Amino acid sequence: MELEIQRVVKRFGGIQALNGISLRISGNELVGLIGPNGSGKTTLVNTIGGVYQPDSGKILLNGRSIGNLQANNVVRYGVGRTFQVPRAFRRMTVMENMLVPALALYPERGRKVWEKRAREVLDFLTMDHLRNDYARSLSGGQQKLLELGQILMTEPELLMLDEPFAGVHPRLMETIFEYITTVHAQGKAFLIISHDMNSIFTLSQRLVVLSYGDIIADGPPEVVKHDEGVIKAYLGDEAEDA
Ligand code: ADP
Ligand code: MG
Repeated sequence: MELEIQRVVKRFGGIQALNGISLRISGNELVGLIGPNGSGKTTLVNTIGGVYQPDSGKILLNGRSIGNLQANNVVRYGVGRTFQVPRAFRRMTVMENMLVPALALYPERGRKVWEKRAREVLDFLTMDHLRNDYARSLSGGQQKLLELGQILMTEPELLMLDEPFAGVHPRLMETIFEYITTVHAQGKAFLIISHDMNSIFTLSQRLVVLSYGDIIADGPPEVVKHDEGVIKAYLGDEAEDA
């Protein structure tokens, strides 16, 4: 897997959310994406994922341009993602939710095969006993797990997770942590947005820091942690919140 982002600009009216971002993620790298609120993290993931098209710049996946694809086609190319706010179909069961992306992408394999796969994934997520429950009856954390299950059904090479630990019960947090490390060990790449510094510093091999739409640091967590520009960006953020 090789994702190459070249000078990507994304504007919303007068706001420039991404100022010409360049970034390469290859192999099965596990990259943490951090930065103060409003720095452009979700916009970057949305732009890679086809929710937005870049105003300029290029996005290449394994050498092919994906910058102008719609979100459903980006998934087809092997990029899965979760949302900051989970988007399960509330009136469908857990199992039905699992089958939707798989049957949409690979209907020819048939429902039986996908149901079997869905149960394996749900079992891995400690959710198999909930398979006939409606998604709306799940806790917020369980809905996040369901989304993590759904993206595995699309057989991605790169998984982009937006705030996977936010608002999640500590017990489920452990399950999500284990999911990430296990799937990563199976050879998948990750781009993970998180405000949970403990988890993201532990998980990441590489941290990319955004501030006002620019990458201000990119390197091993131990180095990034002591970067003056990064410390300043976060202190500025706290000063604004205060
Ligand atoms: P982060 O995820 O780092 O908190 P975002 O990517 O959500 O930041 O936002 C970056 C900037 O772009 C912010 O100034 C935000 O207000 C703006 N923005 C994001 N999405 C939209 C949108 N759909 N319409 C208008 N402005 C947006
Ligand atoms: Mg965000």
